[in-house]
Amino acid sequence: MFDGLKAIVGENGWRNRENAQRYFEDPRDRFHGLSQLVVLPKSTEQVAEIVTFCASNRIGIVPYSGGTGVVAGQLSIDREDNVLLSLERMDAVREVALDDGVIVVEAGCILADIQSAADEAGMVFPLSMASEGSCRIGGNLATNAGGIQVLRYGNARDLCLGIEAIMPDGSILRELAALRKNSTGYDMRHLLIGSEGTLGIITAATLQLKQKNPENLTVLCALSTPADAVSLLHQLRADVGDVLSAFELLSHVGLEILERIFPNEISPFSEPHDWYVLIEAAGAVGLRDKLEQALGDTIESSLVLDAVVAESESQRDALWRLREMMPEANRLSGAICNSDTSVPISKIEAFIDETVRALAAIDSALTINCYGHVGDGNIHCNVFPPPGLSKAEMLDKQADKIESIRMAINETTHSCNGSISAEHGIGRLKVTDLQHYGSAAKLTVMRQIKSALDPHNIMNPGALFPLEEVSN
Ligand SMILES: Cc1cc2nc3c(=O)[nH]c(=O)nc-3n(C[C@H](O)[C@H](O)[C@H](O)COP(=O)(O)OP(=O)(O)OC[C@H]3O[C@@H](n4cnc5c(N)ncnc54)[C@H](O)[C@@H]3O)c2cc1C
Repeated sequence: MFDGLKAIVGENGWRNRENAQRYFEDPRDRFHGLSQLVVLPKSTEQVAEIVTFCASNRIGIVPYSGGTGVVAGQLSIDREDNVLLSLERMDAVREVALDDGVIVVEAGCILADIQSAADEAGMVFPLSMASEGSCRIGGNLATNAGGIQVLRYGNARDLCLGIEAIMPDGSILRELAALRKNSTGYDMRHLLIGSEGTLGIITAATLQLKQKNPENLTVLCALSTPADAVSLLHQLRADVGDVLSAFELLSHVGLEILERIFPNEISPFSEPHDWYVLIEAAGAVGLRDKLEQALGDTIESSLVLDAVVAESESQRDALWRLREMMPEANRLSGAICNSDTSVPISKIEAFIDETVRALAAIDSALTINCYGHVGDGNIHCNVFPPPGLSKAEMLDKQADKIESIRMAINETTHSCNGSISAEHGIGRLKVTDLQHYGSAAKLTVMRQIKSALDPHNIMNPGALFPLEEVSN
């Protein structure tokens, strides 16, 4: 059966398990993919041929971009007969159209390469996250990725004007026009964005470029509580307007973990504080003065306890490494649970307090590192085993406790009207959680859309929906 697929992509267009281990690995070392074949098409037409072949032969397809997804959406962990379709050979920038303010890219373009292409054209592509050196735009759109500049520029969905995709019957949807307005019925772009490869394969996208700003400012502020971080966000916005592009929460616990794992990355403050926010702002000439003045006021009122302003690019980079290396520090430090919670901004403090209380009731010796995107209400809550116990030992002997921890965070999220997946998606990891917390009406409509577009469930079977619910 797989010979037909190999013939479509040619000799250099496929890999098997033996020569392509990386396609079967999970960035957090929890899952292993079981697929036997990876196909690497070079063009939209080849992707269409592959999908048509798979539709006729009822072969499941798992789209794969950068493989940095953390919910196992890109890994066939439950079936060997799904084929992995990697977009990595489709990585061309098709066009930079400055008059339209867009860049048209193929789905396999690495996010950092799109940022560089925008920069060379004198513009900015603001989607940005710690995995940007490896993740690809197809995966970013399929998960509606967020990252650190959502506060000002929105998430992947907000930055995408057009899309090209292969639908489950093999037809090519060409909707790449750079239109800011288009009121002609259902918007297929928005259906495909965030669908995690379950409704089609994104092959290209038209993305919005933003203007560069002449002045920017990066500052790390020390604070007493997460509620103070929210107050600071509101106060600065009121004082200087919508110039804040990132507003990232860090904690003393998190910086201690970071310093232990990466001894060169150290807090710039001489004394520790309980909480910090890393702020990035960009705007017209005069922005630095205005913002420094506004920050001075917050120090005077004791809302901000201390602040360090980056005076050079290298100082800016050092401050940003404290935030960007946090996911890797958590992984290397043996986190047993990593939430991707979003709550209304007004509930951030309640979410953190209630989570800490609920986890202490399970085991008061757990270490908890809450950090994330305050401006988006998106808090990642990482939990570590009690001292003396490793992640492996806990997975082996206390799997039930890990599940209780995960569910306690889910329950707190739910009680705060939050979402169990702010920016990572559902993948295969959170399918049961979605069934549990998703509203009945939403789940019914999702199933109806899935069966209408992909009646044989060939598109990423096992992701978003339970495998048995829509089988091929
Ligand atoms: C260190 C680290 C930091 C991270 N930080 C962030 C962050 O700040 N914000 C954030 O949102 N995420 C973050 N992530 C998660 C991850 O990087 C993002 O979800 C990213 O958008 C996934 O892109 P990818 O190319 O790696 O996709 P993959 O992992 O390859 O795929 C992700 C999902 O999209 C589907 N898919 C992939 N390509 C296509 C396509 N062309 N068409 C249809 N479906 C497709 C896959 O089947 C899978 O379901 C982080 C991950 C790591 C490891």
